[in-house]
Amino acid sequence: MADNFDLVILGSGPGGYVAAIRASQLGLKVAIVERERLGGICLNWGCIPTKALLRTSEIYHYMQNAESYGLKADNVGFDLAKIVDRSRKVAGQLNAGVKGLMKKNKVTVVEGVGTVTAKGKLSVKQGDKTVDLEAKNIIVATGARARDLPFAKADGERIWTYRHAMVPTEMPTKLLVIGSGAIGVEFASFYNDMGADVTIVEMLPRILPVEDEEVSAFMDKALTKQGIKLLTQTGLEGLVPSANGVTAKIKAKDGKVSEETFSHAIIAIGIVPNTENIGLEALGVETDRGHIKTDGYGRTNVDGIWAIGDVTGAPWLAHKASHEGIIAVEKIAGGSPHQMDKANIPGCTYSRPQVASVGMTEAKAKEAGYELKVGKFPFIGNGKAIALGEAEGFVKTVFDAKTGELLGAHMVGAEVTELIQGYVVARQLETTEAELMETVFAHPTLSEMMHESVLAAYGRAIHY
Ligand SMILES: Cc1cc2nc3c(=O)[nH]c(=O)nc-3n(C[C@H](O)[C@H](O)[C@H](O)COP(=O)(O)OP(=O)(O)OC[C@H]3O[C@@H](n4cnc5c(N)ncnc54)[C@H](O)[C@@H]3O)c2cc1C
Repeated sequence: MADNFDLVILGSGPGGYVAAIRASQLGLKVAIVERERLGGICLNWGCIPTKALLRTSEIYHYMQNAESYGLKADNVGFDLAKIVDRSRKVAGQLNAGVKGLMKKNKVTVVEGVGTVTAKGKLSVKQGDKTVDLEAKNIIVATGARARDLPFAKADGERIWTYRHAMVPTEMPTKLLVIGSGAIGVEFASFYNDMGADVTIVEMLPRILPVEDEEVSAFMDKALTKQGIKLLTQTGLEGLVPSANGVTAKIKAKDGKVSEETFSHAIIAIGIVPNTENIGLEALGVETDRGHIKTDGYGRTNVDGIWAIGDVTGAPWLAHKASHEGIIAVEKIAGGSPHQMDKANIPGCTYSRPQVASVGMTEAKAKEAGYELKVGKFPFIGNGKAIALGEAEGFVKTVFDAKTGELLGAHMVGAEVTELIQGYVVARQLETTEAELMETVFAHPTLSEMMHESVLAAYGRAIHY
């Protein structure tokens, strides 16, 4: 006899486990199926352990620059095993936290590899055993995995994916990072700050290509100044590992092909959705380049089958997955949630300096035909930034000149990943420049730059 539920969720990442908690709050009998570790990629192999590593490299950077704060720190060094151990412990703590949350919310956790066998039916393979589950609704939240290069597979020795890069047993001396999205730039920043000689290759004309052009240009200068070599409009044509390193065949902007040997390479060229072998093809669930097609509530084309998170496509972010989970569950429970609005999902890169944004870039807003008012305020005009010794960066705001709608906000500099939420709330509340200008910002804070940027869009900045 199969166990019966109102809802079974396949995959326990930030999409799946958050959906499970909300379902339980709404009175649904819910089970979650996980083949690996509760919490998914985000807290075991993604968002959280990388931030633990980046905290280490940030502190290391400050220790090396102690003198600029009037401090002395001699013989500054590090123990790689302990750095990795701390990051794994942080991940472990959060994994245990999700376990506790499942228990508290009476969510049945089923360990094993799940497959949807028919509408409302799943089987979960647990070694030699199979457990059958039945549910009125099924949410597919199986996430994604790292994309491999067509000509080179990660071996965990010389060629790494993010999983290997997160648990290094030796420090790369000369590192090639392939791809300059958030993950590539974060690893480049970590390893560069820890002393490796880092090169990034990017096929597109600029790094962090989804960000505003001015942000990419600023990051290009900042990372170059830190010693990272950035090769844009550059193709990687080969990657051959050996016992001592990995040789890359690199095609430069001008078409010239050269070879260079690195100690290690990290492949960060995107992800592949986990949609294979989970029964979707047989049920006729529609996909688009591997990603499950859904409407704004997470419904697929097959009644009773829903999908959320990375498996449904960009942006591949934990908070997007969680929010989609909440929407889907509320709809399943008969509520009237708002559909997902992808224009209000913030994106953050936790490198040094940090990058954060929400809404349209200036170029995209122009392309969409808006007449714009653009404000830009530099960190050097902010007292707190100077006091922190972090005077590099800017806050840019893009407004619709006709209505005062905040179309987009783009920030680069210290702690901007903590600041961006102010603008996300403003957009969610459909605030115009008028309310933002009338808002009182605490002094001294970095957030004052958010005010000044709005004022600057209308020629009223005070401190610059
Ligand atoms: C290095 C790195 C850093 C990142 N940093 C950030 C960040 O700072 N901020 C951010 O927002 N996002 C970040 N991300 C992205 C974030 O991790 C993902 O967007 C998020 O984890 C997606 O959540 P999800 O629930 O869709 O899927 P996942 O977290 O991928 O979880 C899916 C789960 O499903 C399980 N599963 C798959 N198939 C089956 C099956 N058949 N049976 C049972 N279980 C199955 C998997 O084992 C997995 O646990 C980062 C990603 C990486 C790789």
